[in-house]
Amino acid sequence: MNSRSVIVVGAGPGGLTAAMLLASQGRKVSVFEKLTEVGGRNSSVTLGKYRFDRGPTFLNMPHILEEVFHEAGRNVHDYLTLRSIDPMYRLVFGDVEFQAHRDRDQMVEQIEKVFPGDGPGYDRFMREEGIKFKAMSPILQNKHDSVLDYLRPQFLRALPKMTLTKSLYSCLSSYFKDERLRLAFTFQAKYLGMSPWDCPGAFTILSYMEHAYGIYHPVGGVSEVSRAMARVIEEYGGEIHTGCGVKRVLMKSGRAVGVELDDGTRQYADEIILNADFAGAMNRLFEPGVLRKYTSEKLKKKSYSCSTFMIYLALDKIYEGSHHTILFADDYRRNVDEISKNKILSADPSIYVQNPAVTDPTLAPPGCSGLYVLAPVPNNTSGIDWDREKEGFRALMLRKLKKQAGFEDIESHIVEEKIITPLDWEREHHVYEGATFNLSHNLSQMMYLRPHNRFEEATGCWLVGGGTHPGSGLPTIMESARITARGIAAREVCDSRIGHTAGVRG
Ligand SMILES: Cc1cc2nc3c(=O)[nH]c(=O)nc-3n(C[C@H](O)[C@H](O)[C@H](O)COP(=O)(O)OP(=O)(O)OC[C@H]3O[C@@H](n4cnc5c(N)ncnc54)[C@H](O)[C@@H]3O)c2cc1C
Repeated sequence: MNSRSVIVVGAGPGGLTAAMLLASQGRKVSVFEKLTEVGGRNSSVTLGKYRFDRGPTFLNMPHILEEVFHEAGRNVHDYLTLRSIDPMYRLVFGDVEFQAHRDRDQMVEQIEKVFPGDGPGYDRFMREEGIKFKAMSPILQNKHDSVLDYLRPQFLRALPKMTLTKSLYSCLSSYFKDERLRLAFTFQAKYLGMSPWDCPGAFTILSYMEHAYGIYHPVGGVSEVSRAMARVIEEYGGEIHTGCGVKRVLMKSGRAVGVELDDGTRQYADEIILNADFAGAMNRLFEPGVLRKYTSEKLKKKSYSCSTFMIYLALDKIYEGSHHTILFADDYRRNVDEISKNKILSADPSIYVQNPAVTDPTLAPPGCSGLYVLAPVPNNTSGIDWDREKEGFRALMLRKLKKQAGFEDIESHIVEEKIITPLDWEREHHVYEGATFNLSHNLSQMMYLRPHNRFEEATGCWLVGGGTHPGSGLPTIMESARITARGIAAREVCDSRIGHTAGVRG
């Protein structure tokens, strides 16, 4: 039993995982969430009897989810039903379609059918990237808050395999000749909101992870993961206060000692964990003068991911076909440059469509379905006036769905819909510049150079989520929470050895 207390600001996946781990170890955990439901980007959107995942729809590396539940003394399968999605996704390049399978023989057969001669590259990809992934795993699972961390043998062993000086696209090009097949293994850079031509080569592990571990869908949607974690926290006596925003982190002599809530009440704890969007939290949660490294001027100079334009369509029919479909722009590189470099709206966007009704009947009334449609778009540093552009961009996306993805009569089947623009991500979800995948994952913002899990600017303050190490995406964010929870435990041991009384009250 542990008598220490922890406040978690934000009930996104990072905050919930950390709260679950720390509550299971006996700490008094209180989570404060500004919105009225848990999950953050991984919450749900409800339209009448239809439910959609708000953000994540791919659950990768489910063993990490199993592990964090296990560490919290729970079996995740008592809380969630996970379905493997196979084929993993359908990729559409103009009039060429490609289905990615997890099964090796089916995958090689599909490659040879659509891109003859490229089959052997797949086995080499799986072999070489498997070695790289194994070497890199300890880097993703361990803290990077001291330069001394780089002297650990596991880091020194992994470094040469990380291909940090090459881009993701350049690394992948060595396996496959066909440009479209290269894209089939590099579009995953979009999970980090980056261009494959800029994303460090280390991230070839993203497509490797999909092929090695598969892609899963929890029945009820990926947002069920958030609700399951919230249940575990409450089972351990943790408190989750939704609709209860934090206005300020309370500081005393350089130490975070508590929080002031939006209603003015003050809560104190031994440790404070920030899960709110990193740059948003830095801009809003500290009194002027507290921060030196992450002032608003310095935050403006950092690099941020792209944003996403979302359409959630409630339909009165079900389209048969794939659970996940990606429609590539005819000129994908141009589309990616327009998003991340030129920061303009593409006339030919790439689009992702999730059609979960083909796997999961629980998300819509019988015979009906909900379609989730996403286009990566520039973040709000673009200055795009989304209130003006949104109807035109919606129409463009629907035209593409009708023409290229087999949803010809979709408009006559829409019963309700909702749009989230990059401005909405910023205004309603407190995402800095609407950069939905957080700080970019470029070399100058990775590992030691990313904001640390043990926050550099305030003692007793910790970070979890996409803005700290290892970065954005559900499995990595769960790792961030594990690193932070371990850091807190280690610090408590250290404090008890030196007889320190934590929790300096205000
Ligand atoms: C459209 C989209 C699609 C994605 N698809 C995938 C996918 O398929 N697979 C995958 O693995 N990842 C995916 N991701 C990434 C994944 O969703 C994010 O990396 C993850 O949800 C971020 O989690 P987080 O812990 O950083 O917190 P967030 O989800 O950002 O949650 C932070 C929480 O803090 C709350 N908060 C903010 N300020 C305050 C305050 N002052 N007081 C109290 N609470 C506050 C917010 O309301 C929010 O609930 C996707 C993301 C998006 C946006």
